[in-house]
Amino acid sequence: MKKIVAIVLAIAMIASVAVLSGCSGEKKSESGKEKLTMATNAYFPPYEYYEGEEIIGIDAEVAQAIADKLDMELEIVDIEFDSIIAGVQTGKYDMGMAGMTVTDERKQSVDFSDSYATGIQSIIVTEDSPIKSIDDILAKDADYKVGVQLSTTGDIYISDDFDKEGKSADLITEFQTGNDAVAALASGKVDAVIIDNEPAKSYVAATSGLKILDTEYVTEDYAICFSKDNTELKDKVNAALKELIADGTVQKIIDKYITAE
Ligand code: GLN
Repeated sequence: MKKIVAIVLAIAMIASVAVLSGCSGEKKSESGKEKLTMATNAYFPPYEYYEGEEIIGIDAEVAQAIADKLDMELEIVDIEFDSIIAGVQTGKYDMGMAGMTVTDERKQSVDFSDSYATGIQSIIVTEDSPIKSIDDILAKDADYKVGVQLSTTGDIYISDDFDKEGKSADLITEFQTGNDAVAALASGKVDAVIIDNEPAKSYVAATSGLKILDTEYVTEDYAICFSKDNTELKDKVNAALKELIADGTVQKIIDKYITAE
């Protein structure tokens, strides 16, 4: 009997130790390293996209280089672009990295790292489109339908411009991914798509009958976002990023995915 009690006690002790260590606060990975969870939306080539099961791209590699420098274990989580800021704000994810543009409005909700890349909002149309520039889309009597990715800067800018010009917001369709917006353009459901230039190039290369207008809509800076309560992590990541920019690592990663024309 004594033996059984002793065994039961021993099991209870082991179990409680296991529970306690599981609750120790720090998010440790199996390797014992502290985890760095990055929220992204993996449909934004060449910054983040799937190759088989793996998420690769500029952001994935820069984040990995940062994690290596900080001796942390990177975990990339693929969620809707629209949910990244909220997820970072509530601490569900340590940082958001998704070709995300720094805007004053977003700065009210999250803090940004230094910028590591530049983006341009471009306009995709069909090869035979009469649209030559953004002015054609914004013209008072024009009723071109525009597709965007929900909550991206392309969405925000075109919605603001339509508002300013007194044009109906019904002409703008918000899609969950850039891919969906481009598919709608290819099938004639919208007349133009406003999206970042690098994904635009990938989509146009993969879909016949589309082209990117030469005129640029808006130029912007990409950065990593953090909860305003986590300046410690932001500072650490920024220090690592600074070194990776200074020693050419970031540029090397960008050049691997974006070949100069
Ligand atoms: N650069 C754009 C933005 O921040 C789009 C980013 C994205 O779709 N991943 O809104």
